[in-house]
Amino acid sequence: MNQFLKRRTFILIPAMSILKFIFQPITVLAASQASNNEWNLSKEEWKKRLSPESYYILREEGTERAFTSKLNNEKRKGVFHCAGCELPLFTSDKKYDSGTGWPSFWDSIKGSIETKVDFKLIVPRTEYHCSRCGGHQGHVFNDGPLPTGKRYCNNGLALKFVLE
Ligand SMILES: [Zn+2]
Repeated sequence: MNQFLKRRTFILIPAMSILKFIFQPITVLAASQASNNEWNLSKEEWKKRLSPESYYILREEGTERAFTSKLNNEKRKGVFHCAGCELPLFTSDKKYDSGTGWPSFWDSIKGSIETKVDFKLIVPRTEYHCSRCGGHQGHVFNDGPLPTGKRYCNNGLALKFVLE
């Protein structure tokens, strides 16, 4: 009996430290939970505010087809806001052409986004969403340009571009 217990502990401890290592650096938040109560809207209220396409991206973590967003080729100076609550998320000077077919940025405006891990494609990916209304924006990868090395791969339908 004693030996059996020891063996189980021996297996469990390394497994738990691996899990801890995977989950530790990421803030885990529910997909569409707003941090600000004012933006804690019902499904019906969101449907009234958003187009069906934007609702699918922002509130159901959908992904638009590559190369379909006008914002993909947007090169003018300005700010990209959350299409759900208009919080500024990205500035045009951090936008770059990643060749993926989605508007891409190498950095976000400080404090404007939150991340969580999603397992939709089995391999874990880091999902990110608007820190105010919880609306899903896209996924962040570690193959972006310097100085951050990050690639924020964003759905154009989740953004609203405002010219500066
Ligand atoms: Zn928002």
